[in-house]
Amino acid sequence: MNKETFAAQFQEKLLTTFSKRPDEATNKEAFQAIALLVKKEVNSNWQKTKQVHLSNDEKQMYYFSMEFLLGRLLETNLLNHGWYDVCCETLHDYNFEPSEVFSEEADAGLGNGGLGRLAACFLDSLASLNLPGHGIGIRYKYGLFQQKMVNGYQVELPDYWLKDDYMWETKRSEKAIEVRFGGEVNPTYVDQKLTFDHVEFERVLAVPYDVPVVGYGTDNVNTLRLWSAESTTNPFHFNSVHGKDYYHYLDYKRSVEKISEFLYPDDSSYEGKLLRLKQQYFLVSAGVQSILNQFKKTEQPISELPEKISIQINDTHPTLVIPELMRLLMDEEGLGWDQAWDLTTKTVAYTNHTTLSEALEKWPEQMVKELLPRHYMIIEEINERFCQGIWFDHPELREQIADMAIISYGQIHMAHLAMVGSYSINGVAKLHTDILKERVMKPFHTLFPDRFNNKTNGITHRRWLLHANPELANLLNETIGKNWIHEPKELINLLKYVADPSVQAELARVKRKNKRHLASYINQHYGILVDEDSIFDVHIKRLHGYKRQLLNVFHILHLYHLCRENPSLNCTPRTFIFGAKAAPSYHFAKHVIKLITTVATKINNDPLIKDKLKVVFLENYNVSLAEKIIPAADVSEQISTASKEASGTGNMKLMMNGALTIGTQDGANVEIGAAVGADNIYTFGLSAEEVFEYQATNKYRARDYYNSDQRLRTVIDQLVNQSFTQDDVEFKDIYYSLLFNNDEYFVLRDFDSYVEAQQLIDQTYRDQASWLKKSATNIAHSGKFSSDHTIMEYANDIWKISQSHYSKS
Ligand SMILES: *Cc1c(COP(=O)(O)O)cnc(C)c1O
Repeated sequence: MNKETFAAQFQEKLLTTFSKRPDEATNKEAFQAIALLVKKEVNSNWQKTKQVHLSNDEKQMYYFSMEFLLGRLLETNLLNHGWYDVCCETLHDYNFEPSEVFSEEADAGLGNGGLGRLAACFLDSLASLNLPGHGIGIRYKYGLFQQKMVNGYQVELPDYWLKDDYMWETKRSEKAIEVRFGGEVNPTYVDQKLTFDHVEFERVLAVPYDVPVVGYGTDNVNTLRLWSAESTTNPFHFNSVHGKDYYHYLDYKRSVEKISEFLYPDDSSYEGKLLRLKQQYFLVSAGVQSILNQFKKTEQPISELPEKISIQINDTHPTLVIPELMRLLMDEEGLGWDQAWDLTTKTVAYTNHTTLSEALEKWPEQMVKELLPRHYMIIEEINERFCQGIWFDHPELREQIADMAIISYGQIHMAHLAMVGSYSINGVAKLHTDILKERVMKPFHTLFPDRFNNKTNGITHRRWLLHANPELANLLNETIGKNWIHEPKELINLLKYVADPSVQAELARVKRKNKRHLASYINQHYGILVDEDSIFDVHIKRLHGYKRQLLNVFHILHLYHLCRENPSLNCTPRTFIFGAKAAPSYHFAKHVIKLITTVATKINNDPLIKDKLKVVFLENYNVSLAEKIIPAADVSEQISTASKEASGTGNMKLMMNGALTIGTQDGANVEIGAAVGADNIYTFGLSAEEVFEYQATNKYRARDYYNSDQRLRTVIDQLVNQSFTQDDVEFKDIYYSLLFNNDEYFVLRDFDSYVEAQQLIDQTYRDQASWLKKSATNIAHSGKFSSDHTIMEYANDIWKISQSHYSKS
């Protein structure tokens, strides 16, 4: 596509859609016109891709996830399709500023954090690698809340991302599916065969909205299918359940619409809500039914199912696929238990994302029984057979049956169900998988050693480098050529140049430019002037105790104290940048946010500090904001309590953009450290083994660290001595959690080694040649964390799907 053709089509779209000339169109209209152009082009490839998959009879993979944190799609679609440059040139020609046009697109924030963003990166890699893999999710009317800061506090506003129509979706009413809730199941014999008659249930219509997933430099287009809940409009159905009362109908309609209304904002703790269970079953039932419908069109025997379909469940949220597939195979397809179980357990694979006990999903038996009576029967039977199997075939595990049971003490343990009912169980970083095998899921590993495997998370280098950091991408193209875009491991070729002064100078120039860009954003939105020569120290992720934003704040307060004590102190200027949302009901996390903003106000307005320290809290951290911050980062804060962060992916994005990691030996930090070498990462703190040791022996005394370390006493006392606010209860909860609840996350224990690592950063940064060499070394090793590699491992080891041969037409 050349510029003239693109410009002509752009003009025509504006005219036919809005009856406007380019000089009359608003940014939003320009955005919509371009999105329509792209969509039209993509549609024909999309259709072709489906045809190819069908006629080649290829095995398909479906990635079930309650979250897809997509962010914006226009720029990456343009880039993947090869239209990015012509589009920007055309916009310029018509006096549009492309970045303003692109930012008219609402972020699709259908996820909380890492887990949802992982699903989005995987879709990008699947499509770009010509793999037949698709996403199945929920079309929430409201995505993750918008965070607004008011007087330093987080306020949550609804994220009505659909207000302007979503340009990428296509509603497919003809593919709607009925999902049934509640009612009763009556086992009856029909022709001497036991059948299960489900009656008096509530009907919900699941309507799919399909979003095309465009691959980079290929005509392959996969599908993300998002389900929306609608009430059935068939009055016959309605009368049979609710009688004819119109007001009851309105209640019913409202209760149905709620199912796909909100994304749960609880990142890593379990919300015991009936509605959440409804959402999970809604996703699962609609998704599995539509897959089976598609499969049955091919007229293959049902026994071929595992040869043609793999279902990956992203954490335990979609675990009900196991009993749902069992139900459909038995009750609808007429299979017996054994064959249904054989097929199900060869089709479903499970990814574990957490070992935090508060995040392991459990549902009350009674709730499942009432909402999903037939599934409850099936889960009971699975549990019965599973426990008996251990008793008879694995006497060595008899003692542990109570710990392994799927149903115990009135609760259904979804992780247990997921492990028993799937053929693959994977962790998301080496350390995490080892912890699963040796600790958290040890008896299951004894029972099913072959099911366990590791798949370290990854990120798409197309969004997080090529798109987010075009200046760095250019530098790479000029230094090592463009092959890294198709084969990210080729970034390793940069190693030859890490000490090359001209490459270092260019790298410094690019980083400086990105920092200037972010600095001007900060000035525009917050009126804070930050020093572009200061270290940009970046801590961006959900706010959680285990992620230890508090440890970062303590270091800042410590530096602040040093600078005030000694105004001529020779410290390298730093800008501390935070971005984080707290779950609305997570009070501790909200106190930490308020602490950050309070400290920021204090330090930024202290004339004694001048430009030495600045603290900035950027509101509403989301994918688009991440794309602005990450290219400008010098330091990447990855300081979780060891053993708690399953993998992390923010660590990978920042490394790929040349930031140096200060991190604990946790999650994928361990693999990042192994790749770049100890000289190119700042590792500190307790190891996972040491954390487990403390937990087992109860030997940690937070108070001892407070009593013996004057620096900690100074910092912690400030929480309650009105240093920051007249209100002396504001930070009392934090104070108590440390000194009276014994500091669950070992903040005080790791403080000393954290400060030491930060001092090393302070010194190294002054030696720019040394710093830039480390930065370039990180970029060079970041290719192995591309989700392309992660996805190829899933494809080869778990899904057994193969790449189609496409060429760019
Ligand atoms: C990558 C990403 C995350 C995950 O960050 P971690 O540091 O791995 O917790 C969360 N939110 C957004 C918007 C992201 O882009």
